Amino acid sequence: MRIVVVGGGVIGLLSAVEIVSTGHQVVLVDQAGIPSTGSTSYDRQRVIRALHLDDPAATATAVQAHHQWLRLQRLLGTRVYEPAGALHVLPAGDLSRAQRMLSDAGSGAHLFGPLSLAATYPQVRFPAGSSAVLEDLAGVLLADRILLACAGWLRESSSAELLPHRTAVRVDADDAAVELADGEVLRADGVLLAAGAWSQRLLPPRLAGELVLCRQSMILCAVPAQDAAVWSATPPISTFGTSNGGWLVPPVAGTPLKLSAATACRVVTQVGDTGTPAYWRDHLVEQFAPVVRGLDAGWVTGARDAYYLMRRSTGGPMSAVLGDRVVSYAACGGSSFKFAPLIARSLVQHLIGAGVVRVPSHRPVM
Ligand SMILES: Cc1cc2nc3c(=O)[nH]c(=O)nc-3n(C[C@H](O)[C@H](O)[C@H](O)COP(=O)(O)OP(=O)(O)OC[C@H]3O[C@@H](n4cnc5c(N)ncnc54)[C@H](O)[C@@H]3O)c2cc1C
Repeated sequence: MRIVVVGGGVIGLLSAVEIVSTGHQVVLVDQAGIPSTGSTSYDRQRVIRALHLDDPAATATAVQAHHQWLRLQRLLGTRVYEPAGALHVLPAGDLSRAQRMLSDAGSGAHLFGPLSLAATYPQVRFPAGSSAVLEDLAGVLLADRILLACAGWLRESSSAELLPHRTAVRVDADDAAVELADGEVLRADGVLLAAGAWSQRLLPPRLAGELVLCRQSMILCAVPAQDAAVWSATPPISTFGTSNGGWLVPPVAGTPLKLSAATACRVVTQVGDTGTPAYWRDHLVEQFAPVVRGLDAGWVTGARDAYYLMRRSTGGPMSAVLGDRVVSYAACGGSSFKFAPLIARSLVQHLIGAGVVRVPSHRPVM
């Protein structure tokens, strides 16, 4: 079969690799480069963590995703995953439940009371009395390396054709055809739309209207040289127990310390550039100065904004079957990257007629 994939972010690239791996042909189109440095996926790090305290199925699926990433790393032949664990500050009453859920899903988990938490991570000032769980099968996905490795792998394959700098302007769901801005029409046995935050332009209005576009700022920091070893041994922290929804990705494998918070997300009407306005940079420094010991504006070496969609009714992603041979996946913030190998497999299975679209259920939290 010949499948056209629109979008060279993590969903499109992993789907293209899956298509070729299952013995089919793929044509991958992106409006920018492949990979596109302006895509949401093109960043230094993304986090995979399993614990979804209110959702045992998502927790189990995320542990499966961890194993899939390790498999993909072997296929790509390059290091793209640092299994650094993931730390979550939780109310003391939730700790044993979290540990049980992780253990049922196949992951180890270590519990910290207030004293051991403060002693193990002195570089972070957790709110007084905080307790936490550290999960084992979690860590940092080296996002840009993943995208580059997938694009390189596809370029080596005679079953893949990459078409960078070509914009899809219309999809014919009945005919499985994609019209490009230059007038060329790509016909296929199946079409996957993986256009990320730009998905609304290609979806029918009734589906596009269900999606809300968000923009989020992140700051990138260099930690003081004397603390580098401590910081590179720090796990991603999904929540500090603070009300701003703050999270942290540690500086592993040459990446910077990355900080962001739910308070740095806002609803916008269109995808713009990835520059971070000074207001949001300052806002994040203000949010993290009380939490990260010693942090001030001097630590900040860069900042980046990224865009994501969320389904109005659920806050999560939207997968849609548009016709017998056309599917779309509009990724959400927080968790579509970590589930990408499973999402890609499910979408491709549907297109090659080997399954129905059943992507992991998940919520837009890191
Ligand atoms: C701040 C932030 C932090 C996040 N953290 C995490 C995390 O820690 N863990 C996690 O699992 N997830 C996280 N996510 C979510 C995750 O990064 C995204 O859901 C995921 O990267 C989206 O991938 P994608 O391939 O769907 O979209 P993208 O990466 O945006 O790729 C879409 C591609 O489609 C192309 N395109 C669009 N329209 C067209 C067109 N008409 N024609 C041709 N090409 C087109 C674009 O150029 C782009 O290259 C985070 C998101 C944000 C914003």
